[in-house]
Amino acid sequence: MKASPEAQLRLLELADLDAELARLDHRRRTLPEIAQLEQIDTRGSQLRDGIVMADTELSDLEREQTRAERDVEQVRQRIDRDKSRLDSGQVSAARELSNLQSEVESLHRRQSDLEEIVLDVMERRETVEGRRNELATEQTGLAGQAAELTSKRDSALTEIGEQAAKAEASRTEVAADIPADVLTLYDKLRAQHGVGAAMLRRGQCQGCHLTLHTVDLNAIRAAAPDEVVRCEECRRILVRTAESGL
Ligand SMILES: [Zn+2]
Repeated sequence: MKASPEAQLRLLELADLDAELARLDHRRRTLPEIAQLEQIDTRGSQLRDGIVMADTELSDLEREQTRAERDVEQVRQRIDRDKSRLDSGQVSAARELSNLQSEVESLHRRQSDLEEIVLDVMERRETVEGRRNELATEQTGLAGQAAELTSKRDSALTEIGEQAAKAEASRTEVAADIPADVLTLYDKLRAQHGVGAAMLRRGQCQGCHLTLHTVDLNAIRAAAPDEVVRCEECRRILVRTAESGL
């Protein structure tokens, strides 16, 4: 495989651009805002569930309170009825009077028990309402945070996208100077190893960082300048420069 020494140097530029593109891609995928937004999303769904639960509890308690209040009202009406009978003087039999009086007493006890229940339900409602308000407040705060993070994430993505577009454009330009078969080999090696071409510097392959054997170095020394040579260790394309130590 052949490529002019200039075209071979372009391979190093291509490798730099590909490294930059990989860095940008990594940055795009690991933006801290992405993980933070995921956390917010998880918390947000916990809050939604909590609010639904509190609302269900509140409507149950509201029904319970209405029922207890209705019971109180019924008892009160019966007390009123009994009292007006007592006050009217229509009931004169001693036995009937004493029955009515003891019924009023027992109705009063029943009323105060029911009023206890109403108070208890009201207190429970207050507690649940407090909890629901806390959840709703947290939800509002979370929505604000999410909006802020989303806009930060989006502007970071825009910036990364611009840098990537520039690198892509340079890559197209650089790739145009490289023979097609060499470029195909480079891309294949890049897919396998992440890096397709490396500089030979002071007898060391900058791709795998191994120092080449004297035999291999001699073979490279003997190779024509336009011969595409490979590292015997990692098989990457080795690019010779003034620093190669040949
Ligand atoms: Zn190597």
